[in-house]
Amino acid sequence: MEQERIDVRCCIAGGGPAGMMLGLLLARLGIEVLVLEKHADFLRDFRGDTVHPSTLEVMHELGLLEDFLKLPDDEVATLYGQVGPTTLLVADFRHLPTHCKFVALMPQWDFLDFLANAAKRYPGFRLRLQAEATELIEAEGRIAGLRAKTPEGTVEVRADLVVAADGRHSLLRERAGLEVIDLGAPIDVLWLRFSRHAGDPGQTAGRFDTGRILVMLNRGSYWQCAFVIRKGGFEAIRAAGLPAFRETLASLAPYLADRLDELASWEDVKLLTVRVDRLRRWHRPGFLCIGDAAHAMSPIGGVGINLAIQDAVATANLLGQALKRGAPSESELEAVQRRRSPRLPPANRGADALPRRSRRRAQGLGRHQAPHRRRRPAEALASSGAALHRRCRPCHVADRRHRHQSGCSRCRCDREHSGGTVARRGDSD
Ligand SMILES: Cc1cc2nc3c(=O)[nH]c(=O)nc-3n(C[C@H](O)[C@H](O)[C@H](O)COP(=O)(O)OP(=O)(O)OC[C@H]3O[C@@H](n4cnc5c(N)ncnc54)[C@H](O)[C@@H]3O)c2cc1C
Repeated sequence: MEQERIDVRCCIAGGGPAGMMLGLLLARLGIEVLVLEKHADFLRDFRGDTVHPSTLEVMHELGLLEDFLKLPDDEVATLYGQVGPTTLLVADFRHLPTHCKFVALMPQWDFLDFLANAAKRYPGFRLRLQAEATELIEAEGRIAGLRAKTPEGTVEVRADLVVAADGRHSLLRERAGLEVIDLGAPIDVLWLRFSRHAGDPGQTAGRFDTGRILVMLNRGSYWQCAFVIRKGGFEAIRAAGLPAFRETLASLAPYLADRLDELASWEDVKLLTVRVDRLRRWHRPGFLCIGDAAHAMSPIGGVGINLAIQDAVATANLLGQALKRGAPSESELEAVQRRRSPRLPPANRGADALPRRSRRRAQGLGRHQAPHRRRRPAEALASSGAALHRRCRPCHVADRRHRHQSGCSRCRCDREHSGGTVARRGDSD
């Protein structure tokens, strides 16, 4: 088979949220970028569709929000929990300091298609589908590119920076020999869907009953459901049979009783084996991991897509200028990890990795030992939307030359779009 050679400034392996957003941001800065995606399109299994306010804010900053919100989506401004007969408000996004005060539920493939189309407007952007990165190329002590398998043969890509955005089962992070810290996860999740009928409740809600959790996302014509099970528990559920599983679902959401047959076989149930892990080090010379490849997240809160987007924003902000000149230095790559790395529980870090203040706190030596304040339930509920927002660790697009041109009816902007968002202290790069 033919071997093709491509030279590019940055090669990104993986066309998920992290890879596509980074491709768009770098191309927008005038940097030549090639994104390799192993699948032929973005239309794949359900992989979550919660586009949080932090991601919508990035779309605003890129001047893309108005067009983005023209895609079919459902708005969720509040999340409810049903415990037995009681309905509780568990998260409220209406008070966030963002233009969109809601989560947009949108199929991930629509979101990725949108990013791809936005990126294709820039001459430096190339997307190669059916191109699977298989190995890294090393030269002179650094990663100098990769090889990818395509239907036409092997492609050799030479790049100043290779970014692994190839998801939670990242092959490239393994090839790079980066150490993965497995944080363990006590749960797995079963994803399934049922049609939504007139007369069903309207809310996106979690249903809790005797240790069982069913989250139901209102997708207009259907319910996207997530059933939380104990780790490795799927086989036992299968062994108990489909009728028993249907009954369990109906006991949590009785109005599903008239459509349980829509769950025709186990083929209709998708198992998400939950992994929560982190790379100890996200980079090597010439190489960087972002998104799930750097930190696979628990699905609780539906932040994975949004963290991946924010990783891309921070990477473009921190490496964009360096990439215009050539290969970013190791300290520049390290800056991305520092900005984006979720905190590890102390048990998973060497004691030396703890900042001095945290070490002193862990040893009970902190100067101010403020007594732990127990929060009132109402206060906790009101702030949980903000807490979910903070979990995405929002960044702002540093270069905002292209701003939103006109008013947008859905983002409830409280000031003129062209005036721009004011970077808030502590959350911009
Ligand atoms: C069933 C399920 C439900 C989820 N629900 C939610 C949710 O509701 N909300 C939420 O925020 N998150 C959810 N997540 C998590 C979310 O999908 C991820 O956190 C997010 O997609 C991570 O983005 P990423 O770009 O880092 O990786 P991915 O989205 O995994 O993208 C990686 C891409 O790389 C491609 N790829 C892999 N290997 C190679 C290779 N060698 N060469 C080229 N391409 C390659 C893959 O095909 C894929 O397109 C869910 C995940 C699953 C599996």
